[in-house]
Amino acid sequence: MKPNTEQKKVLKNSITFFGGAGTVTGANFLLTLGGVRILVDCGLTQGEKYCDRCNYEPFPYDASQVDYLFATHAHADHIGLIPKLVREGFRGTIISTPATRDLSGTMFSDAIRILAREAQYSGEDPLYESEDVRKTLSLWKEVEYHTALELTPDISIRLKDAGHILGSAMIEFTYNRKKIVFTGDLGNSPSPLLRDTEDITDAEYMVIESVYGDRNHEGREQRIEMLQRAITDISARRGTLMIPSFSIQRTQVLLYLINNFVEDGVLQKIPVFLDSPLAIKVTDIFKRYTHLLNKEVQDEIKGGDDIFDFPQFKDTKKVSESKAILKVPSPKIIIAGSGMSSGGRILHHEKQNLSDPKNMLLLVGYQAVGTLGRLIQDGAKEVTINGESVRVKAEIRTINGFSAHKDSDHLIEFVEKSHMSIKKVFVAMGEPKSSLFLVQRLRDYLGVNAVSPEKGEVIELDI
Ligand SMILES: [Zn+2]
Repeated sequence: MKPNTEQKKVLKNSITFFGGAGTVTGANFLLTLGGVRILVDCGLTQGEKYCDRCNYEPFPYDASQVDYLFATHAHADHIGLIPKLVREGFRGTIISTPATRDLSGTMFSDAIRILAREAQYSGEDPLYESEDVRKTLSLWKEVEYHTALELTPDISIRLKDAGHILGSAMIEFTYNRKKIVFTGDLGNSPSPLLRDTEDITDAEYMVIESVYGDRNHEGREQRIEMLQRAITDISARRGTLMIPSFSIQRTQVLLYLINNFVEDGVLQKIPVFLDSPLAIKVTDIFKRYTHLLNKEVQDEIKGGDDIFDFPQFKDTKKVSESKAILKVPSPKIIIAGSGMSSGGRILHHEKQNLSDPKNMLLLVGYQAVGTLGRLIQDGAKEVTINGESVRVKAEIRTINGFSAHKDSDHLIEFVEKSHMSIKKVFVAMGEPKSSLFLVQRLRDYLGVNAVSPEKGEVIELDI
């Protein structure tokens, strides 16, 4: 329902921080401009379990009164509650890049399966079901990067490449010739596959992520060399290399780099398995959007290279194919989800392979406290996998340099580009320590008015 003239007078131009404030996950911001209610992201709050109990609570606003919803990118902590919003009455328009819409559809299908299983255990209704997803996708409008779109005669929008994952966008709202920017997650450019984060030079207000607000990345330069070394070591000792990996972006980066090793002749004929139905589907989406990848990669594709495929590569969709991997003699490489070993097929490979010192578990992503991945990373000698006790004797290595987020120095560099126009920066989507550190650095280094809003806080915009 569009607001009537009376309501428009009452609604102030403001941003309300319903989620992603004081925490990394659950991004959910309400921007009110000229009486129009616009949500940016509607993500799952994620902790130890796939879905925390708080996700089941009703939204703190009337979903039917929201006019637009923008999805910055297809990670669950940014889109995971959209079908629930539709279930609660949202009938406005959802807007994102075409790649984000496609990836979101795939993520929702996977989520339905997990949510249905969780609902069986809890005895409660699932958060959402396939009918909600069908309705959600019917409300979804695709907008390409850089295509200006007028929401009303006063409000126009434009999406810019955030360089974080395929299709990720920053959203620029222009109102009264003033620009308000929501960054979503910002990529750790340059990325092996994606284009660099685009510059924003004229924002007045900015809502920025701060996952790495308090620290800089180490090991960026060594990441490719470390991956190569892990593969050559496993090959020499004829072991099994297990790589738990996130389905979107990280898996495709790994495949691309391994593909390069094969072409450069540094990888012998070791079989490589992608054992994740979700990651296989996501990789197919990447193949449809290669025009979004960086120029170097596009040139390789034009030169005839299938960047995610090589002779000894096999994707295993069926459970029987997945089980058959066990019979393949080592050395071999298995990439499987989930990225933190909190579920998925990686568990059965870990159960089979962790107790042999010839094997290796290579951690290439962040491992949250409480996950099996973190326990192993922290040196647990024995773990429980699917109810069975497993001794950890395999070698455990970590490569930190693959993060898909900008670090503290690069976040500051990003804001600095708007130094002529910026009035206020809202630091969000980070742990409190990380957000507050970035707030202080933005004040000290750039002299910028920066704050870290609390959950539920409403901040009026002077526009
Ligand atoms: Zn993200």
